[in-house]
Amino acid sequence: MKIALITGINGQDGAYLAELLLEKGYMVHGVKRRSSLINTDRIDHLYQDPHDANVRFKLHYGDMTDSTNLIRIIQETQPDEIYNLAAMSHVKVSFDTPEYTANADGIGTLRLLEAIRILGLEKKTRIYQASTSELYGLVQEVPQSEKTPFYPRSPYAVAKLYAYWITVNYREAYNLYACNGILFNHESPLRGETFVTRKITRAVAAIALGLQQKMYLGNLDARRDWGHAKDYVKAMWLILQQETPEDYVIATGITTPVREFVKMAFAEVGAEIEFTGEGVDEKGFIKSITNSGFSLKVGQEVVLVDPAYFRPTEVELLIGDPTKAKTKLGWEPEYNLPSLCKEMVASDLEIFRKDDKTQWEHLAG
Ligand code: NDP
Repeated sequence: MKIALITGINGQDGAYLAELLLEKGYMVHGVKRRSSLINTDRIDHLYQDPHDANVRFKLHYGDMTDSTNLIRIIQETQPDEIYNLAAMSHVKVSFDTPEYTANADGIGTLRLLEAIRILGLEKKTRIYQASTSELYGLVQEVPQSEKTPFYPRSPYAVAKLYAYWITVNYREAYNLYACNGILFNHESPLRGETFVTRKITRAVAAIALGLQQKMYLGNLDARRDWGHAKDYVKAMWLILQQETPEDYVIATGITTPVREFVKMAFAEVGAEIEFTGEGVDEKGFIKSITNSGFSLKVGQEVVLVDPAYFRPTEVELLIGDPTKAKTKLGWEPEYNLPSLCKEMVASDLEIFRKDDKTQWEHLAG
């Protein structure tokens, strides 16, 4: 039985990856940091009582800022594969917590690589590093491939740049099977509520159910290459199954402005959105309605711009070239943006309805 260790197991990707590896018959260990409230919602369905025989899913308390603890966990678990998904993953928040982000996202990766070396596991343990399209930052080339130069534009991206290169360096210096997956944005119903796609689908659901009147967003012109996290964790696994360790861009190759995603999400509740004005004065309102089962009104102002959500340095356009992943790994995504958006809006409607079933059960859609 193969043994995997996932850092950031209770994050969006950690949850989907753990599910995939369990399906493939792995023993899955996860690193989870201590929090004052239990925050394992995304992985609760995978829980196995540690007292039972043949347990294949186990959590360990740990933190990317604590070397001794990472060394101990790796020594105890002796993983064949490590997936380093733990990170302070929010770009805007990294401007508020730059030093912590560098420590957890940058040096944290070094700590794992060193742990493998200290424990003499260079020949046994393969490691995947969660690199990001944010490395491309200020656009140097379109679309962005494994050969495109990096130009990070946030403390998050700069920390991830260190993690990227230290992973390459340990591969070259010590012959480690260490790879970067340069993943473009990937979303799902499990996406954190403060990331723009989830913020939009939650707000659309709340507005449709009459729980909220409008949403405030940042840069509506920002364009992103959005895929589904479920597809992207399959690529992570494939990257560690190859004969030679290499780095791969994982993307859909299609880019969409935030404004279009807003329209797509409202279409799921039967509302057509029109935008008027420019810059901070741009507004979105409901132009027409085809589903009368929701609490929506024609003319209702539903989107406003709040400059507080602008990044000090913006990344305007991300669009990835996944040719290498498709040809070498045989990776093909199953979802497209409309099917992803549909799933996210449906899930958020369900969440709000469950919160107060008696109040909303009469609503259709
Ligand atoms: P999430 O924010 O959903 O999950 C991050 C995970 O890391 C959480 O489990 C979090 O725990 C954990 N974590 C944060 N800081 C620490 C720490 N100091 N020690 C231990 N664990 C920590 O991110 P995603 O699942 O979306 O992303 C997974 C990885 O992929 C991240 O590294 C992210 O930067 C990267 N990435 C993501 C992309 C995306 O579009 N989703 C695109 C490209 C890269 P807690 O719940 O306690 O906060």
